[in-house]
Amino acid sequence: MNWAMANRLGHIAATKAHGRLGVDVSAYPVNVSKAIDDAGLALMRRPMPRLFGVYIEANGNRGVMVNSNMTRATRRHTAAHELGHHEFEHGADPGRECSIEVPTPATAGASPNRAKGRIGAQGQVEMCAEAFATWFLMPRRAVTAAMETLGIQRVSSPVDSYRLSLLLGTTHRATCRHLVNLRMVAQDDCESWARVQPGRLKRALAAEGGVTLATTFDMDVWDLRNVTGARVEASVGDLLVLPAALTVAAKGVAGLAVVAAGDSTVTVECVAAVNLTDLLGSTAGFTVVVHDRPFGLYLPAVDLSLGEVELTS
Ligand SMILES: [Zn+2]
Repeated sequence: MNWAMANRLGHIAATKAHGRLGVDVSAYPVNVSKAIDDAGLALMRRPMPRLFGVYIEANGNRGVMVNSNMTRATRRHTAAHELGHHEFEHGADPGRECSIEVPTPATAGASPNRAKGRIGAQGQVEMCAEAFATWFLMPRRAVTAAMETLGIQRVSSPVDSYRLSLLLGTTHRATCRHLVNLRMVAQDDCESWARVQPGRLKRALAAEGGVTLATTFDMDVWDLRNVTGARVEASVGDLLVLPAALTVAAKGVAGLAVVAAGDSTVTVECVAAVNLTDLLGSTAGFTVVVHDRPFGLYLPAVDLSLGEVELTS
């Protein structure tokens, strides 16, 4: 097994799972929590000192546990990785140490020759789950839809790939890597962009929105100045840099606090969880969800992104 083979298998398995679980692959971000629930698995979120996540079985019931201390994108990626173990029928193995960073194409061998004999059975299982996670969270149509929202024909800088990763709800590194799978970005560009610290991009953008960041850890800065019609699934602590036309609308949503306002932009901080809501201005509009750090059992009835309570401002 090499990375190219794992990628093919992951693509096929993710496509099958999308179909069986009724996932809308033309919309971003893919709701992996609901998909896990629809697959008949319990999804638990709790702190786990050493692990990203684990696919477990107890008394004939199967489930996925995800480390709730990680960032939103990493939690989503881990959840999709564990769903991958289920879809590949890898079996629940409490001793399996899932890692969402290895192996990478660079370490596992992107060419058929390099990988031969280097990857053990456990590594192959992990490669398949990793490939599944990227294809499950980033089907081509969802990526294209997110690019259309951003108004870009092609991804041509780390700023683009970072903004794309926010809409898709995926890690910046996995997004860069997957753009190569999709033949949208060259391998060399992917590698150099993946090395760019997202913190640098966040600071620069926050400054453009009139805010100096004390920390960039576990928060994101969304550039929504020239975007319309976006679906924004942010987290508490994130900043949204919006066109000034949305100032009044932003002030009207509980959970959002205006932290800077200029002639052309208004920057809001997500200070509390917000159900699916519409933020409408005269020239731009967004659908916004703000997630708090999840804990405990996932229940679709209280999934903010499914929009049981709809607010319009
Ligand atoms: Zn794993």
